[in-house]
Amino acid sequence: MSKKQNDYSGAASVLEIHLDKVARNYLAFRKMLKNGADCAAVVKADAYGLGAPQVARAIFDQECRHFFVAHFDEAVAIRAVLPKEALIYVLNGPYGAAPKDFAENGFVPVLNSLQDLAYWTEFSATSGKRQPAILHIDTGMNRLGLSAKDAGTLNRDMLKAVDLRYVMSHLSCGDEPDHPMNAQQLAAFKSLTSALGMPVRLSFANSAGILLGDDYHFDLARPGCGLYGINPSSGVNPMEGTVTLKARIVQTRFIDISSPVGYGAAYKASAPAHCATISVGYADGYLRSLTGRGKVVINGEKCPVIGRVSMDSIIVDTTALEVQPNQGDWAEIIGAQQLVDEVAAQAGTIGYEILTSLGRRYRRHYTGG
Ligand SMILES: *Cc1c(COP(=O)(O)O)cnc(C)c1O
Repeated sequence: MSKKQNDYSGAASVLEIHLDKVARNYLAFRKMLKNGADCAAVVKADAYGLGAPQVARAIFDQECRHFFVAHFDEAVAIRAVLPKEALIYVLNGPYGAAPKDFAENGFVPVLNSLQDLAYWTEFSATSGKRQPAILHIDTGMNRLGLSAKDAGTLNRDMLKAVDLRYVMSHLSCGDEPDHPMNAQQLAAFKSLTSALGMPVRLSFANSAGILLGDDYHFDLARPGCGLYGINPSSGVNPMEGTVTLKARIVQTRFIDISSPVGYGAAYKASAPAHCATISVGYADGYLRSLTGRGKVVINGEKCPVIGRVSMDSIIVDTTALEVQPNQGDWAEIIGAQQLVDEVAAQAGTIGYEILTSLGRRYRRHYTGG
């Protein structure tokens, strides 16, 4: 055989996570912020699928001291890798453990309702110490946070019963700069927080909010998606891609016209075709909705997914390539030639869902850490 022998010892799929690029995206956000505004990092959902311990540590090394997660267990997962100065906030509230476990670990809950505030006030009273918290006031998203009406019932005594670190709110349409919700939420945030009648530090902007300009920055910004290379804006992406996902071609074949491909024989070749079967499937987070819509990059060219996405593999049509690939060659699923937002568009979803779906079977390599 003249064909070179395939190296079978390498991984069938590799996810490279470029920590230097995550760090650069963090620094880019910090540069965009107005003077005096601090920059947190949102590392919930295992840092959007990239690995919270590694990511949090890399961003801590850029002097980030504020980290947001969604759950108590996610706070535990990063506590071990972060020095004491790092503050960890739990967005979904004081759930998942006893209040004293929050306190002992230095985790600060975000209080999303009057009920949360009463709970934290009681804990402060019984522990003999005003316990730290962030108070979340809703300004129009109607997801989490005190309603305007509930915020109107707050008084100084209620606010002073806990150690109030920030008052925050969250934008619902920040990625659409011209959406009227942005200015409405900003105005509501200003009026609801000034009605509190005491000085408080404020936190408002997510990644997209940072791009909306200084008015949105306040004291602490909370970027997530942009750190990981997802475009927070509707224009040209100012962030760098942070992952390279490649999977091995595990078989190649040539098929005749009308040959059925994949489960359900749902695809039939309209002409004789070269095909490659690639070691990535929906169990790896290569969403089944990419059936007939996804593309992978082989030898620098995009090849379409044909047939249904299987659990462990996909089949692509490589006929258009000048040089046909060999078994054992790599296909790039996400990377410099096809950014995560592009794959998301093919799947009919957003980059957030692509990254947080990244599977556990990839061999993960962290670079630039
Ligand atoms: C997830 C989240 C963020 C980060 O949002 P991105 O759009 O990923 O930048 C900020 N604040 C809150 C309350 C969040 O839930």
